[in-house]
Amino acid sequence: MAEDEVVGLASDLIRIDTTNTGDPETLIGERAAAEYVATKLDDVGFETTYLESGAAGRGNVFARLPGADPGRGALLIHGHLDVVPADAAEWSVHPFSGTVQDGYLWGRGAVDMKDMVAMTLAVARRFRRDGVVPPRDLVFAFLADEEAGGSQGSHWLVEHRPELFEGCTEAISEVGGFSLTVRDGRRLYLIQTAEKGMAWMRLRAHGRAGHGAVVHEDNAVTALCDAVARLGNHRFPPVMTDSVREFLTAVGEETGLDFSGDDLEGAVAKLGSLARLIGATLRDTANPTMLNAGYKANVIPSSAQAVVDCRVLPGRQAAFEREVDELLGPDITREWVVHQPPVETTFDGDLVAAMDAAILQEDPGARTVPYMLFGGTDAKAFNKLGIRCFGFSPLRLPPDLDFASLFHGVDERVPVDGLIFGTRVLDRFLRSC
Ligand SMILES: [Zn+2]
Repeated sequence: MAEDEVVGLASDLIRIDTTNTGDPETLIGERAAAEYVATKLDDVGFETTYLESGAAGRGNVFARLPGADPGRGALLIHGHLDVVPADAAEWSVHPFSGTVQDGYLWGRGAVDMKDMVAMTLAVARRFRRDGVVPPRDLVFAFLADEEAGGSQGSHWLVEHRPELFEGCTEAISEVGGFSLTVRDGRRLYLIQTAEKGMAWMRLRAHGRAGHGAVVHEDNAVTALCDAVARLGNHRFPPVMTDSVREFLTAVGEETGLDFSGDDLEGAVAKLGSLARLIGATLRDTANPTMLNAGYKANVIPSSAQAVVDCRVLPGRQAAFEREVDELLGPDITREWVVHQPPVETTFDGDLVAAMDAAILQEDPGARTVPYMLFGGTDAKAFNKLGIRCFGFSPLRLPPDLDFASLFHGVDERVPVDGLIFGTRVLDRFLRSC
């Protein structure tokens, strides 16, 4: 039974430390995790492909399950195997223990996203063992390097091995499908239909080099700091994209909160633990994160640099750049260090209907709603192949759990019954997709 083994699979995966610091020198565990996944799939008769993406140890695993109608586009089910670092001293349990206690499975990756990897494995194993033929081809992909942006993971694979995803027209993965309790027993399930773009920008100011003790008009450090402060203090205008509007309309209907007035932010603040997440999808952001200039206290350098983390809403790139250029002025140059455009799809069609039906069969009286993720996922890579991407990793959560804070947080954990619920939903969904 898939429900019986999902907790064990997730626990095993958590015990394989796959910390991704972003520094390839410190890599551990991705190969071991990929080998674990491959073995679990091989055991039940899948033909798996193991592949390293761009560097030794960056393990990825692929498997296909043929569907009843090969004429239909395949569904890609992808999940990343790496996790962000965890400091054991801060945790109640060891972050790589995979302990089950108090109704939760604890550990780094419990919600991001070894839970979904385990659910996918459990359902894939059941389908293969029981000879289940899904309506269309399913492509399972278990990936490296999501937590550092995927340049040695999904983006590398899309660039160098696109044939692995041949025929895939739609995809599911993180971050969506989890429940939000709006009132007594009434749950919304948030399905991710969009994510903001990620654009890391390098700024440069140029000036005249000189002695630090003289009167000096043309200082690159001063010019850069002025520009960085203007940008960092700037508030971009609120913009309602379709997915945010649909989400807020649904929440408004369920809670009586009014999101149509002038004080949109005040209304969003009442969403409790979700306020920060949703608030970040109401406008573009540009947060300065790195500064670099000079080499000696008494030498004015001829240039200075800064890096700004920009997150841009769908449809806003050109307007965003115009606004940035106005703030920076003519003397600051800028270039994109990383530029991954936003992803957005509509909340309609057969796949959405199948997600909705699978959730409602397991949680009658619930409601599915679209929403936009403020961060980035591997969907950005697969979107480049024209694949329609959704965040759908179903989980039923207790009403008081601050789910958003568990991502990359201390004491990351997932409710065991939520994981079993999610496996049942995923099973139903993949049989009807
Ligand atoms: Zn993730």
